[in-house]
Amino acid sequence: MASKVYFIEASLSDGERKLSDKAVKLFKAGKFANCFSENDFTAVKIHVGEDGNTTYLKADCLKGLVKELLASKAKPFLTDASTLYIGRRHNAIDHTVLASKHGFDYAGLGIPFIVPDGLFGNSGVEVEVNCEVNKKVFIASELMKCQSLLSIAHFTGHLATCFGATIKTLGMGCASKEGKLKQHSSLKLQINDNCVLCGVCYKHCPADAITLGKVKAHIDQDKCIGCAECLAACRFTAVDSDWGQQNEVLQKSMAEHALGVLKGKENKAVFFNFIISVTKDCDCFDAKDMPNIIDDIGIVASTDPVAIDKASLDLAEAKGKKKLPQLVGNSELNPRYQIEHAERIGLGSADYELVGVD
Ligand code: SF4
Ligand code: SF4
Repeated sequence: MASKVYFIEASLSDGERKLSDKAVKLFKAGKFANCFSENDFTAVKIHVGEDGNTTYLKADCLKGLVKELLASKAKPFLTDASTLYIGRRHNAIDHTVLASKHGFDYAGLGIPFIVPDGLFGNSGVEVEVNCEVNKKVFIASELMKCQSLLSIAHFTGHLATCFGATIKTLGMGCASKEGKLKQHSSLKLQINDNCVLCGVCYKHCPADAITLGKVKAHIDQDKCIGCAECLAACRFTAVDSDWGQQNEVLQKSMAEHALGVLKGKENKAVFFNFIISVTKDCDCFDAKDMPNIIDDIGIVASTDPVAIDKASLDLAEAKGKKKLPQLVGNSELNPRYQIEHAERIGLGSADYELVGVD
């Protein structure tokens, strides 16, 4: 049977209050309150937006959903695991300060922000999944202790996975640093002849894997952790990757980590994708006012993490009148790897019914 994905049209111009109200309409239409019980420790998985990024999903858009959780007498908290790359979300202290600056805290939303993988992002637990790429995955420890989860993703393009939405929010965003490292380990990057030796990648590399030679920079593959920071930082398209194969393994591993996150939360998890301000790159970029690659579409919600991402991808491609790899400008990427693999391993179903909500 097809999984239901609830959809409401929305755009940034609605304003944050109206977007919040529209999300609540979906919450009610899907009867999602049934997934949250009294005294559930409920993780509200968000992305607080990298410092300097302006297109992330704003905190006020979540106000209504948080109120619904509180009404169900759950104990919700805002959460997001530490990043692998060096930035303001790399450790719990900087991350919490940034979350607060962007309104994701008790003062802004009436519930606290708690980093789920410890001070340094290395507090994770092994979860057995027995899948093709991973037998075990590594998830932020506090997320595995929660009884329920509300995932709120901002649908964007992504330089390595083509797009990021619910599967990426769960798989990458809830993994401990060890889990993130495992997922990125398939990425093997090389510096090409476009390199002008500006040194930016050298400064950004968290693993000291880059040296600046006489002609171009060089990546020590034994030290490289595949975080793709250099790829994101280089303005001269001098960092190459074998996208075809590496991208497939990365997306499969991400889906397997998502499966691990949801273990023990069967019928206790709800997913939202906001398909507005869709940019070529994700909210981890510290870039101001990145241009949209498609017009705003709306909000979707479901209890099926695969159905919601498939529906979001279809909506985005229909709106953009192009396949997503073309919209993000890298035809070697394939957004379907994560969806097809997620369905294969039992994370959900790509067969969906879109239910319109007014
Ligand atoms: S950022 Fe790009 S151009 Fe600059 S040194 Fe690194 S690879 Fe070369
Ligand atoms: S060289 Fe490797 S570790 Fe360093 S920034 Fe690039 S991908 Fe990350």
